[in-house]
Amino acid sequence: MSARLIDGKAVAQQVREEVRAEIETWCAGGGRRPGLATVLVGEDAASAVYVAGKQRACAEVGIEGFAHNLPADSSQEAVQELLRELNADDRVSGILLQLPTPAHIDGSYLTTLIDPAKDVDGLTPVSAGLLAKGLPGLRPCTPAGVIELLRRYEVALEGAEAVIVGRSDLVGKPVGALLLAENATVTTCHSRTRELDQVCARADILIAAVGRPEMVKGTWVKPGATVIDVGINRTEAGLVGDVEFASAAGVAGLITPVPGGVGPMTIAMLLRNTVEAAQAQAPRG
Ligand code: NAP
Repeated sequence: MSARLIDGKAVAQQVREEVRAEIETWCAGGGRRPGLATVLVGEDAASAVYVAGKQRACAEVGIEGFAHNLPADSSQEAVQELLRELNADDRVSGILLQLPTPAHIDGSYLTTLIDPAKDVDGLTPVSAGLLAKGLPGLRPCTPAGVIELLRRYEVALEGAEAVIVGRSDLVGKPVGALLLAENATVTTCHSRTRELDQVCARADILIAAVGRPEMVKGTWVKPGATVIDVGINRTEAGLVGDVEFASAAGVAGLITPVPGGVGPMTIAMLLRNTVEAAQAQAPRG
């Protein structure tokens, strides 16, 4: 292996520590303690684990947690009403609706009801619009985590050729918009892209967000490139990314492992968004 590893666990820990210190200073100066409300509908085990992890992380950095765990048979109106209450609650600086919701509930519509000022997941249409227009706003956590990793490892973004495989609203599109804002030259690939391997081979920065285990091979990687693997795939061999790590690490200059790369950054950026939301909501004196 020739590539240097990007240690997402260590960077996420640094970000959490910075957020903890920021909250301490903010509250000592009279600022209202940031609060994060999580809304979980149903008993999906994986979702419950994610939400519990987010609440735990909040407690560790001094964010007040408001966990709303609703039964699977809750009506859409009941969730809607809860979101309305949370939008109006001054103690709540950020609201996170855990997706997916049960089939009878339209999670994507409900997301649109979250006050954009409290949209710490950065997934409402307003947040997406602000990002697309390059205006200030809350950015989606995983894409923001990708940019944070690139920054902390001093990867040059301006003028760099960035190729993203995947165009989801959750990852691919916002990563592209964030890289464009950093003046990278961005190519976004998807399932209809022709000669994907050759497009990838142009990349100084290659980002895989596909959801297909080890699809991106080492032969697709330009020597010395930075490879960011957003994929999380559970296979019989354990957790693997969208990049074939062994072959890619032999060619890349920098590479994220799975697990321990992008994954830990998502919660860290959620915590940071929650503090930023609290500060932006504070009444001006
Ligand atoms: P998604 O919504 O399923 O989107 C996948 C994208 O990959 C789509 O744009 C799709 O193209 C494209 N694609 C599928 N097959 C392809 C192929 N053969 N060639 C080229 N492109 C192809 O997935 P997502 O939500 O973006 O997630 C992607 C991965 O990231 C998953 O493994 C997910 O678990 C992981 N993830 C990790 C985190 C984290 O915290 N680290 C957070 C979110 C997601 P079309 O648009 O043409 O269908």
